[in-house]
Amino acid sequence: MPNKNQLVVELRDYITAEMNMEPLRSGSETDDDQEINQEETMEEKTSQEELKQTAEELTGCQECRLAENRDRIVFGQGDMSARVMVVGEAPGAREDEQGLPFVGPSGKLLRGGFEKVGLEEEDIYITNVVKCRPPDNRDPKTEELKSCRPVLDRQLELIDPEVILTVGNFGLRYFLGEDKNITSARGDVYTWENRSLVPTYHPGYILRNRTRADSFVRDLQLAADQLK
Ligand code: URA
Repeated sequence: MPNKNQLVVELRDYITAEMNMEPLRSGSETDDDQEINQEETMEEKTSQEELKQTAEELTGCQECRLAENRDRIVFGQGDMSARVMVVGEAPGAREDEQGLPFVGPSGKLLRGGFEKVGLEEEDIYITNVVKCRPPDNRDPKTEELKSCRPVLDRQLELIDPEVILTVGNFGLRYFLGEDKNITSARGDVYTWENRSLVPTYHPGYILRNRTRADSFVRDLQLAADQLK
């Protein structure tokens, strides 16, 4: 979603092109540029603080029954300025132990895939639709998904990614509705609130069905291709 500063830059580029002017050379920063850069840094800092505060506010959350069995709340991991947000399902045993998303074998596969398509660590923020581990890794229940929803809503607002990559059915359904299924939905790019949304299989599924690994990498490539 273009912010005010991006629009100013785009407008300036447009004027330069329309009037056949020499483009501004890099290194020749105008006062406007400096002001834009300062504003951007301040905006980023504020969002970062707000994200930290959102995570802190979640401490000791008792909004649903997952609180009874969890060890840690797994909020998310990654760079505040990430352009791609990965949305998985829910933490598993290792994630619950470490308080970080996708640290087990699924995470290894996911990160290996990103490397393959040229996405770097700072490009990516990883989180889940549900922030606490469901007992025995069962599917999250409707009421659990519902009570956790405002947290992901806030993360999306603050991180403001260009591209959303959903892995598995729960991430897909959060954005595109309960009737969606990954097998039929994957392979396409969707639009969600002016952002590109690319659904793919859950990496845990790929570990059990290796013949689908090609499609998985193709989807990651599709997500990377959406970055401007
Ligand atoms: N599976 C998920 O969906 N999320 C994690 O964080 C780990 C495994």
